[in-house]
Amino acid sequence: MGVAAAEIRLDQRVTSFVKERRKLLIGGQWVDAASGKTFPVYNPATGDVIAHVAEGDKQDIDRAVKAARRAFESGAWPRLTPSERGRLVWKLGDLILEHLEELAELESLDNGKPINVARAADVPLAADLFHYMAGWATKIEGNTIPISVPYAPGAQFHAYTLREPVGVVGQIIPWNFPLLMAAWKLGPALAAGCTVVLKLAEETPLSGLRLGELIQEAGFPDGVVNIITGFGETAGAALAAHPGVDKVAFTGSTEVGKLIVQAAARDLKKVSLELGGKSPNVVLRDADLDLAVAGTAGAIFFNHGQCCCAGSRLYVQQQLFDKVVEGVANEARKIKVGPGLDPETQMGPMVSEIQFKRVCGYLESGINEGAKAVVGGKKLSGKGYFVEPTVLVDTRPDMKVIQEEIFGPVVAAIPFKEFDDDLVKAANDTVYGLAAGVWTKDIGKAHALASKLKSGTVWINCFNIFDAALPFGGYKQSGWGREMGHDALDLYTQKKAVCAAL
Ligand code: ADP
Repeated sequence: MGVAAAEIRLDQRVTSFVKERRKLLIGGQWVDAASGKTFPVYNPATGDVIAHVAEGDKQDIDRAVKAARRAFESGAWPRLTPSERGRLVWKLGDLILEHLEELAELESLDNGKPINVARAADVPLAADLFHYMAGWATKIEGNTIPISVPYAPGAQFHAYTLREPVGVVGQIIPWNFPLLMAAWKLGPALAAGCTVVLKLAEETPLSGLRLGELIQEAGFPDGVVNIITGFGETAGAALAAHPGVDKVAFTGSTEVGKLIVQAAARDLKKVSLELGGKSPNVVLRDADLDLAVAGTAGAIFFNHGQCCCAGSRLYVQQQLFDKVVEGVANEARKIKVGPGLDPETQMGPMVSEIQFKRVCGYLESGINEGAKAVVGGKKLSGKGYFVEPTVLVDTRPDMKVIQEEIFGPVVAAIPFKEFDDDLVKAANDTVYGLAAGVWTKDIGKAHALASKLKSGTVWINCFNIFDAALPFGGYKQSGWGREMGHDALDLYTQKKAVCAAL
């Protein structure tokens, strides 16, 4: 099976944006990498080069961190009132909505995701995140605390806490939701008053670079947000290790998350991490079958399975197993796979050749180890990095396809007998703990399971529901800290206790 294409005509602003060699944003200026090097950006639907961007490395990170430090310590940014800061963050949300179509096209072109998904989800969610965080800028408060001090009888004190921005923040983001991940990182950091060096994913730098222009248009002072394109081992590693950075926020693989922690440990930077997942999705025998089939299919096939929370282990109670597997397989057969820019497309290509080969490798390993593909199981022929949506059965708990994060449209369906501790044990049998799903009409069972699943999010009769107000993050090796919601402000503020003798 191959892929046919009937792509939309790109917005003129998108065509001219990709035509020009894109630079780094440092201290309010768009500049070339110090080395003068650039690297190509590929269209994953064809493998063709679509743009060239500056290849930032250690020297550029150093320049950017210094610019962020200056902007944090002096100039306009620290003098802004919380209300003024909030208005800038709000304005950025507005500008994203004003440029919705352009940003959606850039995202689809660069990442490969369906244009309709980028229009309906990625871009509006990014705008919403900034709008939500804008409101927090004026609500970052400390407390007054009555203290007793037993060793100073009769003395009087006035004690209170201040919540201050943590400082210069290094943020490293992945390629699966490029604009949205930039928003998750920047929104709370800016609302809190931090300054930022943002390292975009090398696979998908375009929407983040366009966001840099909108940040300037919104009126953020120079150096508050610096944007670096470059590779993980060079630019990313330099940012995580830079002594001028107070905090590192990372989203990506658990493997790289551990490297970030090691790099940050040298000077004990604060670290927050949003890492991998191998999310269990549990269908009980009393579930609404149609809802569960559509929901569990969406849980794995949304964004081509390239979601850290993808519902990749589908546990189905025996009585419903065949029906759910057949239903999800049918959903998979119906999915129109194609280039993201074709408005008919429901699933695009894997983001890169590396990711494509990785997913194909997992498919091969699963089948070699004895799993059976009810549907899919192969790559698609022709140009681009397309993989068939796949449902595996006959897996064993020790197989790589069950233990490791595939980050592709591949779900393993696993039957279970009873709603008991063995089910909970199997669902929790992973080093990850990012998200989980439960499908049942029994409200008691739903909440009982939600309390036993070791994961940062549990969705009941739904999946992939995200909101700027709802915290997201991982248990176990899925990460440290929570993004979104007011919890996100904890990542970018620190508390100071002030105690005055009266
Ligand atoms: P994936 O394997 O899915 O590409 P990664 O965790 O490798 O995910 O990448 C996520 C982000 O981390 C990207 O911006 C990438 O450049 C960056 N990165 C990769 N390796 C390192 C590293 N050693 N240090 C810092 N950042 C890195």
